[in-house]
Amino acid sequence: MTDVFADLVGQDEAVATLRRAAASAAALLRAAAPVAAGGAGPTGGDDALDALAEEFDETGVATGQGLGPEGAGPGAGMTHAWIFTGPPGSGRSVAARAFAAALQCVHGTGCGRCPGCHTTLAGTHADVRLVVPEGLSIGVSEMRALVLRAASTPSGGRWQIVIIEDADRLTEAAGNALLKAIEEPPPRTVFLLCAPSTHPDDISVTIRSRCRVVPLRQPPAGAVAEVLVRRDGIAPDVAEWAAAAAQGHVGRARRLARDPEARQRRDAVLAVPRRLTGVGAAFDAASALIEAAEAEAAAAVAEIDEAEKAALQTALGAGGTGRGAAGAMRGAAGQLKDLEKRQKSRATRAQRDALDRALVDLAGFYRDALTMALRAPVAPVHTDTAALAGAGAQKWDAEGALRRLEAVLECRAAIEANVKPRIAVEAMMLALWRG
Ligand SMILES: [Zn+2]
Repeated sequence: MTDVFADLVGQDEAVATLRRAAASAAALLRAAAPVAAGGAGPTGGDDALDALAEEFDETGVATGQGLGPEGAGPGAGMTHAWIFTGPPGSGRSVAARAFAAALQCVHGTGCGRCPGCHTTLAGTHADVRLVVPEGLSIGVSEMRALVLRAASTPSGGRWQIVIIEDADRLTEAAGNALLKAIEEPPPRTVFLLCAPSTHPDDISVTIRSRCRVVPLRQPPAGAVAEVLVRRDGIAPDVAEWAAAAAQGHVGRARRLARDPEARQRRDAVLAVPRRLTGVGAAFDAASALIEAAEAEAAAAVAEIDEAEKAALQTALGAGGTGRGAAGAMRGAAGQLKDLEKRQKSRATRAQRDALDRALVDLAGFYRDALTMALRAPVAPVHTDTAALAGAGAQKWDAEGALRRLEAVLECRAAIEANVKPRIAVEAMMLALWRG
């Protein structure tokens, strides 16, 4: 009943595609397996593996665009390289992991109960590698090593799978190393990439052209609430409120439902509109928002930063003597510097992510005011500040609410385009106050 795709909330189309692909992949493996009795036969052994590689060329790479037409062969529906796209929280990495589990499933379906499914979902399957670039990105040497290992024969007899989360954070050099592997894939290797979109800023055009795309949509609030209740045991009324407030972001919804600090931060953000009483108050609100994002980000990365530094120092054996120690120390200084650079980049990313979450909450408030001013039959994003949004709607009218909503969205876009966050947020607060 609950197979590996159960947590992929509100993504019926993508799940159907992935189920079909997993079934095709299982059929390919069956076709390639040597016939047990009476020798290998014409469809067994290496011949079938070669045929498998050709099959991929025909069904996957050649179609390139979208899901492409489905052929009639046993491999139709399966290909070597996939990109999962969708807004944050839509479940890109959940989808990639579920698909990996289905490919490793001994039944070829993603039953959720067999060792293949279990170990893949638990992150312990020997033939599944998960790459999570943090901050700066994954480097080229790491990518080369990964590609090399991915080319080896799967120990479990099924597939070698590489999942790359946040593939949009690959360096150009790492992307090129990956492209090479995707262009000439070993017959049993599958690459699963996750990225916000297939825009060239997110994923190179050449990589994109070699992959099949699985677009995920923003899941509806009802579906998010359902999974919070079923999987996380959250009370239905809390789940509904959190799902609406998180605007389709499953992880964010769970956080709001469970973490009092996350709720407090959200409350502070939603208090902004009524605090904007003048120019001074607007600047104060900007400072408060920036500082809250900084504090949230610092708390999020502090623990892992410390652990990484300690691990590196242990690995480098601080205080070593003997032959080569001087050279090792020079290398150690370089590695520490690299680590600090990576951590700084991750901290910046965490701050921007935290600030963006706040801006999404704020946008939700003005969207509520707008829909109320228009008397649109739409449920509010923030049920707990609906009365306040209603008051805003009366005061500002639809046009005023829209201008404010646009100010928030412009601020998000400006920060994404590398405008200094403080400047963008101050401009936004002034716009929200003036209207
Ligand atoms: Zn299974």
